[in-house]
Amino acid sequence: MTANDPKLKSWVDVPSGSDFPIQNLPFGIFKTKYLSPVAGVAIGNTVIDLVYLHEHGYLDGHGLPPGIFNQRTLNEFFALGRKKVREVRERLSQLLRHDADELRDNRAAREIALIPMSECQMLMPVTVPNYTDFYSSEEHATNVGALFRDPKNALLPNWKYLPVGYHGRASSIVVSGTPIHRPRGQVKLPDSDAPVFCPSRKMDFELELAFITCSNTTLGRPIPLKETEDHIIGFVLFNDWSARDIQQWEYVPLGPFLGKNFGSTVSPWVVTLDALEPFRAQGPTQNPHVLPYLAFEGARNFDIQLEVLLESPKGEIATLSRTNAKYLYWNIAQQLAHHTVNGCNIQVGDLYASGTISGPSPGSYGSLLELTFNGQKPLHLPGGEERKFLEDGDTVIMNGHAEANGVRIGFGTCSGKLLPAVG
Ligand code: CA
Repeated sequence: MTANDPKLKSWVDVPSGSDFPIQNLPFGIFKTKYLSPVAGVAIGNTVIDLVYLHEHGYLDGHGLPPGIFNQRTLNEFFALGRKKVREVRERLSQLLRHDADELRDNRAAREIALIPMSECQMLMPVTVPNYTDFYSSEEHATNVGALFRDPKNALLPNWKYLPVGYHGRASSIVVSGTPIHRPRGQVKLPDSDAPVFCPSRKMDFELELAFITCSNTTLGRPIPLKETEDHIIGFVLFNDWSARDIQQWEYVPLGPFLGKNFGSTVSPWVVTLDALEPFRAQGPTQNPHVLPYLAFEGARNFDIQLEVLLESPKGEIATLSRTNAKYLYWNIAQQLAHHTVNGCNIQVGDLYASGTISGPSPGSYGSLLELTFNGQKPLHLPGGEERKFLEDGDTVIMNGHAEANGVRIGFGTCSGKLLPAVG
């Protein structure tokens, strides 16, 4: 894929260490003081207005419907399918490469189409019809099973046979920068028989990646594993905020509910599967062998470095965790094949989160539940503060990027501030 060539340079300035070199070109929805929400593409510290490029002929020849980028979401664009989105990304790559003069030398066009990122407010990239949360990190499932149930039988018998998941809440998914209120709910304290109603005392984050689908399938028609990636457009970072005390009391027997559905945060730029192609990695060996419908060939994981930082109300910033998406036991092809094997249909803009991504060492755990052993071992932050769980005013910041051959494909930031409970 020529758009991924590590040798490519752009005439648009890309600072070193930027998440958005010419090899990335992720899609998002933004607005400015002067522009209502439209689709854009990120390069360096610049957002390029795709409506302008489309209306002025720079994207001609690809059969794009009129107004496809003049929308509050990317759903209709993504619904054109992976092949068409790939064509647009390839065309953008051609327009932006250092030796392409078409846009570079048209000063008037450049001044309108290129907007400093600092002037752009990023919005939800897609309308999310359905949200599913998997539980695909063996390390996370083992840690949580040990803390909530039984260290000797941390993984339940089904875990290595199917990618465990549940249907989450789509309405409360918000874009990075949106504050989240601490939820109130039923909490059962260990020394009491009955629950109390109070603000959660165990507010947590979950470090996840989520993929977005780009087709509407027919009810009753499974997606065979080998076709799954044709239906996946790309990834965003995902913070699945969790209230552990509410979760622990409510989750039996049907799974998470109010401990999870009060908010989840996504990063605003959709990094395409195409841009991540050079960063494919082998996942962990799956043993026992999976059933035939979950069998796959090739490298289906992605080598994406992930980190979680906490900014306290005092302004101190501490790194809480560093991990990698390649550790996930179940890959996205298996997740989507399993999700649809019963005939469940998917929709454009659906969001499928990985589940908390934890690595093998304590510094690589993707939630405070694990990092502090359910609050038993507080984290000591470099500035002298201590955390068992999140405090009001804490901002959780997630970053992610893949890097090889001098190319860094990043996601930008997924951040959210925790506000006090309402009322
Ligand atoms: Ca989760």
